[in-house]
Amino acid sequence: MEIVINRYVKKTSVEGPGNRACIWVQGCPIKCDGCINEHMWNIDKGISMDIIDLSNIILSVEGIEGITILGGEPFYQPQAVYLLCKIAKEHNLSIVVFTGYTIDKLQQSDDKWVHKLLSITDLLIDGPYINKYQDFNRPWIGSSNQRYHYLSHRYKYLEKSIQNIKNGFDIRISPQGEILINGMGDINKLKKNIFKNIL
Ligand code: SF4
Repeated sequence: MEIVINRYVKKTSVEGPGNRACIWVQGCPIKCDGCINEHMWNIDKGISMDIIDLSNIILSVEGIEGITILGGEPFYQPQAVYLLCKIAKEHNLSIVVFTGYTIDKLQQSDDKWVHKLLSITDLLIDGPYINKYQDFNRPWIGSSNQRYHYLSHRYKYLEKSIQNIKNGFDIRISPQGEILINGMGDINKLKKNIFKNIL
């Protein structure tokens, strides 16, 4: 089976607890005002990858404690995302999923794959990005309406200490000279500073 993604990063420390592989899925029907990933809305503009091939890439990475799925909207392709996460979980990797839906909305879904994906998610971060609630004071998320849901015991220990984790960015430069950024914070300020310091 195939999953449609925008990109993946094999290891990063700014998209959830510890070092993680991250997969940005392609396609999002939510279309939040102010979304910085508008180029991930149209599923037809993504890259189709075989789930086994993608999981093999992830499983070959050393020193990660889990995978993070973001996008795009992971619950737009719940079966494919579930199957990928299931393989990761079978190899003791933890699962963090970001969604623009609220958990209540997902729990009311009549799609069994939505429930299966929720059932193996350790940490769900829910809610749409809302521009007027922009807030970078909590880790990994951009607006104050978004919430952390500890759906298993794996990250329960973070419940009281999550405020101590700082947001950050990873910046990579590809061999082709592209600047690839991931993480959370004031991206516009970051871009201005990068160019100010490079030029
Ligand atoms: S749910 Fe995420 S990807 Fe979708 S529009 Fe909102 S911020 Fe963008």
